[in-house]
Amino acid sequence: MDKLVSLAKRRGFIFPGSEIYGGLAGMWDWGPVGSLLKKNYKDLWWKEMVQLRDDIVGMDAAIMMNTRAWEASGHTAAFTDPLIECKICHERFRPDKPDEVTTHEATHKGKKVEWTEPQKFNLLVKAYLGIIEGKQSEIFLRGEITNGVHVNFKNVVDSTRVKIPFGIAQIGKAFRNEITPGNFIFRSREFEQLEVQFYIKPDEAEGKKWFEYWKENRMEWFLKLGMKKENLRFRDHADDERAHYARLATDIEYNAPWGWQEMMGIHHRGDWDLSRHQQFSGKTMTFRDPHTNEEYLPWDIETSSGLERPLLFLLLDAYHEEDGRTFLKLHPKLAPYKAAVFPLLANKEQLVEKAREIYNGLKEDFMVAWDDRGNIGKRYASQDEIGTPYCITVDFQSLEDGMVTVRDRDTAQQERINMIDIKEFLTRKINY
Ligand code: ATP
Repeated sequence: MDKLVSLAKRRGFIFPGSEIYGGLAGMWDWGPVGSLLKKNYKDLWWKEMVQLRDDIVGMDAAIMMNTRAWEASGHTAAFTDPLIECKICHERFRPDKPDEVTTHEATHKGKKVEWTEPQKFNLLVKAYLGIIEGKQSEIFLRGEITNGVHVNFKNVVDSTRVKIPFGIAQIGKAFRNEITPGNFIFRSREFEQLEVQFYIKPDEAEGKKWFEYWKENRMEWFLKLGMKKENLRFRDHADDERAHYARLATDIEYNAPWGWQEMMGIHHRGDWDLSRHQQFSGKTMTFRDPHTNEEYLPWDIETSSGLERPLLFLLLDAYHEEDGRTFLKLHPKLAPYKAAVFPLLANKEQLVEKAREIYNGLKEDFMVAWDDRGNIGKRYASQDEIGTPYCITVDFQSLEDGMVTVRDRDTAQQERINMIDIKEFLTRKINY
């Protein structure tokens, strides 16, 4: 993990938020390479969920909502973590995370640490809206992106051709006043979520069927992206552990360096959200089946994932040290750059010109990097560390025979291919 954190900063994936001012706990800034990785992940997810499926539509709700929406969803009352305070230094921790408590006790080196009784602490972040000081209204930054979808259930049904079963997909920022942010980006106070609320008929068998379907579907997603099977598992929530809204809940967990951790959740939310919004808003939230005329409040099977946690775990699985090389074995679809183009020597005009020609041609279709600094070895090393799957070098021979050297990130093997075939080569390799 330490090596990854250092690489992430050194190569422009992730920087500590507001670093020059001493930082701000739980905040991270994504750099030039990291923001590409993030975008690739979100684009792939959107393609799989919205573009390729006929039964899911997308939406993008506002971050701030009428506070009644948070009362309805139960967040103002129940979005709480228990909290204990160290009586020596007054730092607060979650008693349900015993590892963090023990680690903290160890920092007081042999002193007996006493703790306060657990107290509930609301995780919603407050903000103030309005222009007149003193007359602003207190609102919340959304603690999860789910609510913006449910309040628009009717709008989506009325404005599209969706029919039950169908889903609404959304990607967006969420904010939580986490008591103990940490483990790099794992627990942040500002993070992104990718969710599908999948509405089904209120029927036990349908509920079970779709819950199982989404569990398998999401596990398959991480495996397809190259996450190691042995590092993934399902964990069903016990009855006393489930969130206030959930009938069934399973996490997909990852075997992190500090133990198995939640990466995402699949929740059977029943009609909790729609019925509560119906009750609190006074607006009907039912769905009328166009064929049978049956009218009911649909149930919801939710798949809820953060963005930071899967990316952290994908990066951990991708990190390789082999034969003196460090490289990120990222799936080519996720890799920030698909290829890097180099002229063998930066001071030979003809080489630079030919390499630029290739680079400019590829740019139209792929995110490609250019590098003419230092020697080839150093350039390979820096592309390896950001996970660029292919490096293309133009040398003197290329000027004569039109062939370039393509070097593979994972094997370090080199092959000569014709310049005119590069686009086809990359398309084939990246879309495998
Ligand atoms: P935890 O128990 O670890 O706090 P949670 O059960 O509160 O997580 P959910 O409310 O189910 O998490 O949120 C769904 C997903 O959103 C999580 O599985 C995770 O991927 C992501 N997520 C939640 N909180 C954070 C956070 N503080 N930082 C980064 N990602 C988060």
